[in-house]
Amino acid sequence: QKFVYDFTEGNKDLKDLLGGKGANLAEMTNLGLPVPPGFTITTEACKVYLGSGSEPTALRDEVSAHLEALEKRMGKKLGQADDPLLVSVRSGAKFSMPGMMDTVLNIGLSDASVAGLAAQAGDERFAWDSYRRLIQMFGKTVLGVDGELFEDALDEAKRAKGVTTDVELGAADLKRLVEEFKGIVAKDTGRDFPQEPREQMDLAIRAVFESWNGDRAKLYRRQERIPGDLGTAVNICSMVFGNLGPDSGTGVAFTRDPASGHQGVYGDYLQNAQGEDVVAGIRNTVPLADLERIDKASYDQLMQIMETLETHYKDLCDIEFTIERGKLWMLQTRVGKRTAGAAFRIATQLVDQGLIDEAEALQRVTGAQLAMLMFPRFDEKAKTDLLGRGIAASPGAAVGKAVFDSYTAVKWSRSGEKVILIRRETNPDDLDGMIASEGILTSRGGKTSHAAVVARGMGKTCVCGAEELEVDTKRRRMTAPGGVVIEEGEVVSIDGSTGKVYLGEVPVVPSPVVEYFEGRTDGAAEDADELVKAVHRVMSYADGRRRLQVRANADNAEDAARARRFGAQGIGLCRTEHMFLGERREMVERLILADHEDERDEALKALLPLQKSDFVELFEAMDGLPVTVRLLDPPLHEFLPDITELSVRVALAEAREEAHENELRLLQAVHKLHEQNPMLGLRGVRLGLVIPGLFAMQVRAIAEAAAERVKAGGAPHAEIMIPLVGTVQELEIVREEAERVIAEVERATGTDLRLTLGTMIELPRAALTAGQIAEAAEFFSFGTNDLTQTVWGFSRDDVEASFFTAYLEKGIFGVSPFETIDRDGVGSLVRSAAEAGRATRPDLKLGVCGEHGGDPDSVHFFHEVGLDYVSCSPFRIPVARLEAGRAAA
Ligand code: ADP
Ligand code: MG
Ligand code: MG
Repeated sequence: QKFVYDFTEGNKDLKDLLGGKGANLAEMTNLGLPVPPGFTITTEACKVYLGSGSEPTALRDEVSAHLEALEKRMGKKLGQADDPLLVSVRSGAKFSMPGMMDTVLNIGLSDASVAGLAAQAGDERFAWDSYRRLIQMFGKTVLGVDGELFEDALDEAKRAKGVTTDVELGAADLKRLVEEFKGIVAKDTGRDFPQEPREQMDLAIRAVFESWNGDRAKLYRRQERIPGDLGTAVNICSMVFGNLGPDSGTGVAFTRDPASGHQGVYGDYLQNAQGEDVVAGIRNTVPLADLERIDKASYDQLMQIMETLETHYKDLCDIEFTIERGKLWMLQTRVGKRTAGAAFRIATQLVDQGLIDEAEALQRVTGAQLAMLMFPRFDEKAKTDLLGRGIAASPGAAVGKAVFDSYTAVKWSRSGEKVILIRRETNPDDLDGMIASEGILTSRGGKTSHAAVVARGMGKTCVCGAEELEVDTKRRRMTAPGGVVIEEGEVVSIDGSTGKVYLGEVPVVPSPVVEYFEGRTDGAAEDADELVKAVHRVMSYADGRRRLQVRANADNAEDAARARRFGAQGIGLCRTEHMFLGERREMVERLILADHEDERDEALKALLPLQKSDFVELFEAMDGLPVTVRLLDPPLHEFLPDITELSVRVALAEAREEAHENELRLLQAVHKLHEQNPMLGLRGVRLGLVIPGLFAMQVRAIAEAAAERVKAGGAPHAEIMIPLVGTVQELEIVREEAERVIAEVERATGTDLRLTLGTMIELPRAALTAGQIAEAAEFFSFGTNDLTQTVWGFSRDDVEASFFTAYLEKGIFGVSPFETIDRDGVGSLVRSAAEAGRATRPDLKLGVCGEHGGDPDSVHFFHEVGLDYVSCSPFRIPVARLEAGRAAA
């Protein structure tokens, strides 16, 4: 096994092995772009280290061999006293985790070589600046010294000299600072800063390995659903220096605007600076366009490289570069993160440019991004109180109470408050506060600052670099121009699409994308918003390719109509229990309390016309499309008053000597119906079998409603669905009765209703005997919510609040199995049941209802196992359509 690859040996497809950064450094090297030479230690080596606590034995020799080759090529040795080779040791996992793991620059510098570096560069200040950076970064990330100790010392040095930026510190100041930093290291760790170059390098490599399991990295991975066992690669890259004076500098750039998708020059540049200075926001950067004035030759070359990269990667790329005395170096590139809106626009732009085809365009967007675009925006017509404006870094409209630190953000959001996290700038330690907030506002940093990058990744609203707002985190307040002070807890609204910050709550309006789905704007129209146009096109790519149909879960005409506008091809789940609530509850009570047949029939008769009229409306709204109606499913106690409330009512009536016969009967019934575990109790088909006439009434209501629609010239397609079946016998009994009722209605009305009868598959036994069940069912609808509960043996209502967090933290789940289908367990039952069902009845229709029907990953799974449709809530329909198209593309 080979653990080390030279940059010339890798390529962009080796991300699993070399990490994203290493694979792309190799790709750029092979494209002939100016990349400082180096090599990459594989993620495999990291995995060995994390698994066993020590590096694989072969690693040391391999690193030595590659280091020697590098030294030969560069004509100097690592840390060589008179002319030191310096390197960076950089983390880089398969998926980019910005700022989450460690990188150390200037490895190889020491007391012995700092003078050599100064002599070679002819710049003493530069050498000491590089050395103090090394001790600072190495101290913090490798040796675990509290970073603030260094920062305080640096601040103190600036104060003592009466300057505000680090570039104003001279060689002598920095030399003193190096001594001080070394003192900090010695005091804090009990050992001296390591002077031996190879030891520095080895310790840094190990620190990068370990940073994979740092708290920040773990939190980020959970958030982004990145598996915890991938490990990171380590890149050893010879140093180039942006801190060699005004003709040097460092910058970041995008080939297109990651917020809007527009092509052009987007980025930030900082003269006389090294590495992280740009993103850290410690000095104000200049827009990339200014580089043309500062260094035209490098600028032109950069533009050319950006074009090369875009055509090569066929996508938006982001880039890190450094200019060392007028020579441009590429330090990183990757396919860049972008906002949801930009993803859609860029995908269609690239199709227009002929760089990608429609199928590929579908892979460039996600259902999650589409869902984000369906969020509301601020009402442009609302009266607002503008506090100031910053950079529109991540779109959305966020309203919440101002908080000035992550701790408060987390605390308040836990107690149900909506908060906006306001910081001067954020750093990786703010991650949990950012997750807890509705939006993030910073007063410093550009589009590429930590806040902006992370917020975009999380799909959170962010306004950054609002310099006119003075943020005072110590006193927990912010001051706007004109002296308006916003204290912690005051409500602010931030607009991540315009960068505007408002005092108080600004009302929100629906997104243009929703307006489009609602049919209020025509996405193909000339004047349609660019975004709507792009969404329209991508949706048509998806609809043209998908094999899965998409239906809605809806139980009233209004939801059905909306679902239809959103593209639903039917209703996959109409829950009839919602039709038993409100004023009808009383009739249901009567049904439950009935002692004799007569009373029960009375109650059912009263319910019949009400049910029927519900169905008539629904069938009308869905005319021509299938509507799956599920017969009553929940345990009956859900229709009765709460037991304590009822007991109180009875006791009160007794005390007042009032008549309370009815309450007493109800209370008795509640006691009788009480179950230790209602989820596994008298519900679903079991109700139909023990309450005579209940299912027959429902079937009659459906049949009569369908007949009425047929007579009115409509085309109803009702499908009757029996819930919670565990064995084919249950289904056969219900089926026999239903067929009799339907035949009766057909005879009486002279219609041919073509109703179909099917069942939910939501119990393991049903899935395991699906071949038998299919004898009596014309369709299956997988009820993956209940199936997940019964396969895992836990109830969703209880466990999500109790042990799920622990399970997610321990990595037992990457994501809740109620959110995304558990492919290996629940999913495998779905797969085998689908196969067995079709073996019995080749034209068996297969669908899924339940939350998973609108979940992107799950939709892909249902496509793979060959279901006919997914059904989800009306608002998720566009997402399901898109994902079904992506699955088929
Ligand atoms: P991250 O993954 O957090 O971006 P990087 O490994 O890219 O970390 O490094 C952090 C910063 O240091 C970046 O700005 C990068 O461009 C810079 N850097 C890394 N290696 C070198 C190098 N060999 N020479 C100069 N700058 C470097
Ligand atoms: Mg980087
Ligand atoms: Mg169910």
